[in-house]
Amino acid sequence: MSKPIPHTLETRLVQVGVGKDEQTGAISFPIYPSATYRHPGVGESTGFDYTRSGNPTRKVLEEALAELEGGSRACVFGSGMAALTTLFLHFSAGDHLLVSQDLYGGTYRVLDQVFDKLGLSASYVDTTDTAAVAAAIGPRSRALLVETPGNPLLGVADLAALGALCRKHQLLYIVDNTFLTPVLQRPFDFGADVVVHSATKYLGGHNDLCAGILVAKDAELGERLYFLQNSTGAILPPQDCWLLLRSLKTLALRLERHNANAQQVAEWLCGHPRVTAVYYPGLKDHPGHELSRRQTQGFGGMLSFRVDSPETARQVLKRLRLISFAESLGGVESLMTLPAVQTHGDIPEAERLRLGICESLLRLSVGVESAEDIIGDLEQALG
Ligand SMILES: *Cc1c(COP(=O)(O)O)cnc(C)c1O
Repeated sequence: MSKPIPHTLETRLVQVGVGKDEQTGAISFPIYPSATYRHPGVGESTGFDYTRSGNPTRKVLEEALAELEGGSRACVFGSGMAALTTLFLHFSAGDHLLVSQDLYGGTYRVLDQVFDKLGLSASYVDTTDTAAVAAAIGPRSRALLVETPGNPLLGVADLAALGALCRKHQLLYIVDNTFLTPVLQRPFDFGADVVVHSATKYLGGHNDLCAGILVAKDAELGERLYFLQNSTGAILPPQDCWLLLRSLKTLALRLERHNANAQQVAEWLCGHPRVTAVYYPGLKDHPGHELSRRQTQGFGGMLSFRVDSPETARQVLKRLRLISFAESLGGVESLMTLPAVQTHGDIPEAERLRLGICESLLRLSVGVESAEDIIGDLEQALG
């Protein structure tokens, strides 16, 4: 056979699953709902025994995701939180984690209210400040979990500098790449050991699926994560694996539009008299703008903005017509949320206010509708 021709990421995304079903030549890889598989003989296997341990549809998806991120192995879970929970089970009582303070609220909740009781402690640090991260490393620190850009304030962490710090202190370097996906940000290029995704967001992309992903850079860690998943069982059903396979095909295309729309919306918001601050790394005056330009291939579709009062924020949410007032992000439909009450409601108030997550702050997941219509809706809602 001739050598495969290297293709761009965009092409590889579109071709996900194609040619994998040799028996029929199906372009869309089939869904295998079977819970169990016949053994050819004692001690023999087709490669599939029981669907928690392995499923053909999930396998094609996992291989595609590992390849897209540039890792050695991926595991696909029933949600982003299931993926993170399984990853945290890698650690032992007494271990300490360093975690971005500008963080998904659910990650904070599971660490603070579930793992803390089991003896796994966490410190929340400003990961946009590498020196602050270095200062927080203790004798029991085992890992650093970074979200960049942060949620909901879109702070940008220096992935290469943090990678060097993790190497020096032998910390497992974990990057939650949900906001940018491998199309826009490639954490393994900066020394990450594990990439995490809530595939409910951009990878799924249509607000119709809940899934999570762990990708390991090296094979040994990949084997360990697979062991943890198989032991604890938080797999994604084959029907949803298929849906996610289908979603991946348009990922690059969708992100192009998310990027362009978010840039336009962010610039428009900057000029509105009732908007007092706009947080989007694509804006030239964003503190992480230059760093983003260096380490990403685009600024993404997420932005937050502050309005002149909590009453204005409530008014906006009430008046929205096109944009839905709803949790979540990364889908083709534009969604807006009030992080202080919704996504970050489980972070204690004093801590939230210290971070700047007050009730005048709105987070917008800019969809792929026309930018003109999104801006039109914001204009009438801010009115
Ligand atoms: C949504 C989200 C999660 C959790 O994922 P679920 O699929 O909702 O369980 C984790 N990290 C980030 C950055 C998220 O946005």
